Amino acid sequence: MTGVVPDVRLGNGTSIPQVGFGVFRVPDVDTEPAVLAAIEAGYRSIDTASLYGNEEGVGRAVASCGLPREELFVSTKLWNDDQGHDSTLRAFDASLHRLGLEYVDLYLIHWPKPSLDRYVETWRAFETLAADGRARAIGVSNFQIAHLQRLLDETGVVPAVNQVELHTRLQQEPLRRFHAEHGIVTEAWSPLGQGQALQDPTVVELARRHDRTPAQVVLRWHVQLGTVPVPKSADPRRQAENLAVFDFALTDDEMAALSALDRGAELATDPATFGH
Ligand code: NAD
Repeated sequence: MTGVVPDVRLGNGTSIPQVGFGVFRVPDVDTEPAVLAAIEAGYRSIDTASLYGNEEGVGRAVASCGLPREELFVSTKLWNDDQGHDSTLRAFDASLHRLGLEYVDLYLIHWPKPSLDRYVETWRAFETLAADGRARAIGVSNFQIAHLQRLLDETGVVPAVNQVELHTRLQQEPLRRFHAEHGIVTEAWSPLGQGQALQDPTVVELARRHDRTPAQVVLRWHVQLGTVPVPKSADPRRQAENLAVFDFALTDDEMAALSALDRGAELATDPATFGH
């Protein structure tokens, strides 16, 4: 199965598949089979991080899946302890080594960690990695508007993406508007609200109406909103289900009903204070 997932264009001219596969909390030994199953189901974008401890497993899957490297989109992230200019360059080399790759498609600053006050110098190292071509695109994760604005003011280099917690109960409207104004693609982590968003009666009713599952309704809402969700499932049946969202559409009224589910739910982790 190829070509089931359309691409979203990034500001640097490359593109990212609109639905990716996240491997947070997948133990390294289980990662190769999980990623191979995901690739078999049709995923081409894999989201890992040095924190997850499974870059080697991702690399083994990329090496053994039989697809040309350029058909896959591999993202990883710089952990907080490695922020800083030279330490970023070293941490990137170590990630690339663990992945067994010559380049990643996307490298993200995992958290802004403002108490360190190093995300601007970290970003300057990211610019070097992008210029070298070893990170095809560079971006951030868990950045709030103030953090993004500071990067723009002090470096003028726009992140290709900001990967943030986003689902129907936590819709991040002001942040998405800022992204749209600056050409930043919104990636959504915990796109299913860790499963909880699937229980909302509106979601269940729309699933019934479209003869789909609640997960497909929420992921279709993401797609029509223009975000890039990275749902996680270890179950091959659910992995396939989470990709099968490109052959139906929600009406404007249905999109509005889902948008009305925003509760401004508490962030799982507050980026302004995380790591203090
Ligand atoms: P998620 O919203 O993807 O939810 C996962 C849960 O939903 C699991 O319990 C799974 O069993 C269930 N589920 C998945 N598909 C389903 C289906 N079709 N039907 C019913 N239930 C289903 O949340 P997550 O795992 O927290 O996030 C996904 C990915 O986001 C992670 O793997 C990681 O790559 C990324 N992430 C990034 C950050 C960050 O700081 N950048 C933080 C957390 C997660």
